[in-house]
Order: sequence, then structure tokens, then C-alpha cells
Amino acid sequence: MDNDITIDFIENNLNIFHKLYDVIRVVDPITKRVLLYNGNTLVEKASSCFNEIGKESICDNCISIRALKDKKTYMKIESLDNKSYLITVLPIEVNNKTLIVELIKETTDSLFYGHSLDGKGCKVNNIINDLKLMTIRDSLTDIGNRRFIDETLPIDMKVCFKKDEPISIIMVDVDYFKRVNDRFGHTTGDFVLKELAGCLKQCIRNKKDWIGRYGGEEFLVCIPGADEKAALVIAERMHERIAEKKFIHNNEDIKITASFGICSTSNKDITVEEFLNLADKKLYEAKNSGRNKIVF
Ligand code: GH3
Ligand code: MG
Ligand code: MG
Repeated sequence: MDNDITIDFIENNLNIFHKLYDVIRVVDPITKRVLLYNGNTLVEKASSCFNEIGKESICDNCISIRALKDKKTYMKIESLDNKSYLITVLPIEVNNKTLIVELIKETTDSLFYGHSLDGKGCKVNNIINDLKLMTIRDSLTDIGNRRFIDETLPIDMKVCFKKDEPISIIMVDVDYFKRVNDRFGHTTGDFVLKELAGCLKQCIRNKKDWIGRYGGEEFLVCIPGADEKAALVIAERMHERIAEKKFIHNNEDIKITASFGICSTSNKDITVEEFLNLADKKLYEAKNSGRNKIVF
């Protein structure tokens, strides 16, 4: 590689890329420092490279590190909040130091795979979103599946602890659900689970809160930023809604109850497993002390 490239040289040659890409920047992949090209010059930014694209932490597939190591140009498609980005990175030598030029373009509506008559089905962003939904959504209840829980809970815990905020989870398990299946049939059981998921979903209001299907008739509610008191309000709301709700299927009027175990923590050292186990313990207490109640 050319050894006498200077920042001036880069600036003078970035012009053409400015028309092709939304963001042009020079990144030091080791320190994560960013020089942003504004169409004229490179300006040092105070943030880290990953913050610039709306991320809270280093990309787990950082291609700039790869480019630095292999001295090769790489590309990747990154997807974030239902949008997709094409990122091209190329290593350059500046004053005997390897830096990475990163070219970023939002490609949500402009990157296609193959071709289709309406042009819609082949947007790469649609393909990514469909695949993502298939892998993290429970097909019966249309809420997050176990994989979604396993991927999202550790991240939410980390984010809360970093901000010195608490995080709460509620384990919800339907009481005597086997009897619903035995009495009304499995199809009706499925219907009840689907309706119940919708009912629980209506009880969370904050955009950050989520609910997932932890197992058969067991759900996990996650409320980032909430302490025990705030989590209890949500569990009580859920408890009340379930008590009011009639599950009507094939002319059968079905009533169910559920038990709730709440765990709230601000303990930065707690593992995901320990956190889940604590909530599970509370749920077990609720079951053992008569069901249809909340234990925290
Ligand atoms: P408990 O109050 O102790 O929780 O009693 P339970 O009957 O709810 O608990 P148990 O674990 O004995 O039974 C859970 C039942 O949930 C058994 C299983 O057939 C049913 N189940 C799990 N997943 C599904 C599903 O996707 N659809 C239907 N219809 N039933 C399911
Ligand atoms: Mg149960
Ligand atoms: Mg269960």
C-alpha cells in the first residue's frame, strides 16, 4: 500500500464517494475514534464509531478490525431498527499507521437481491426482516420466542446496569393449563395461549418493555428501568386483566388464572441465569402457596 498518503490526500479524493454514500468517515478500529467527512474536510467526532450508527456497543462482526488485520476491503449489510445499511471498509496507510475508510449507505429501499416483477419481494431489507422475524418470533402467539428472550435479556441487563438503572422481569405461568387442554382440546388450548399473549402485551406500555414466550404456557415480561414497585404495578394489571377476560372459543367460555414471580435487580454482577432463576423461584412460591397470585 502507498505509504505517503496524508489526511489532505484522503480529503481530496473522498468527493466522488460523497455522492455514493450517506456517511464517509475514517476510523481507527483500535481506539474506535472517528473522523467524519462533511463533504469538504474530515472532522474529529467525540463519539465512538459504533455510537455514530446508533449502537450502544462494538459491532460483534466489526469488519474494520478484519480489514485492518487482513489488509483487505470488506463489505457487510448491517440491520438496525428495521433499516439496513451497506458498509464498505477499506484500509489505508496514513503516516505509517493503518486507518480504515468506512463508507456507509442506508439501503433499506435501495438494495435488491435478484429480481421480481413488483420489485418488492426482493428488497434485501425485506428478506432480512422476514428471516429475523422467523427466527425470533413465536409462531403461535406472535410474541418473542425463547431465542428472542435469550438474545434480548442479556443486552437489556447490560444497558440498564451501564445506566445505573434497575431491571425487572416477571415470569407468568398459567395455572392448571393441562386441564384446559384436557377439557376443551389442544386447539382451544392454543387459542387461549394466543389470546393470553395479546392480553399480556396490552399491559406493557413502554416501548422498551417486551414479552416473550419462555416455554409452553409460561411467559417472560421484561421491564428495563423498572424497580420492584413499578414491576408490581404491571403484574397487578396483568393479573386483573386475566381475571376479567373471557376466552371464548367454539362456544365455550373459558376462564383461567395465572401465577406471577417478579425479580428486580440493580446488581451488576448478576448473571442472566441467576436473574431468571430468582424470578422462577418466586413463581414457584406463588404456585406452592395456592396459585393465582403474585410473589415478589
Ligand atoms: P401449574 O399450575 O402447576 O402450572 O399446572 P399446569 O397444568 O399449567 O402445568 P403443567 O406443566 O403440568 O402443564 C402445562 C401444560 O401446558 C401441558 C402442556 O400440554 C400444555 N402446553 C404447553 N405448550 C402448549 C401449547 O403450545 N399448546 C397447548 N394447547 N398446550 C400447551
Ligand atoms: Mg402452568
Ligand atoms: Mg409451566
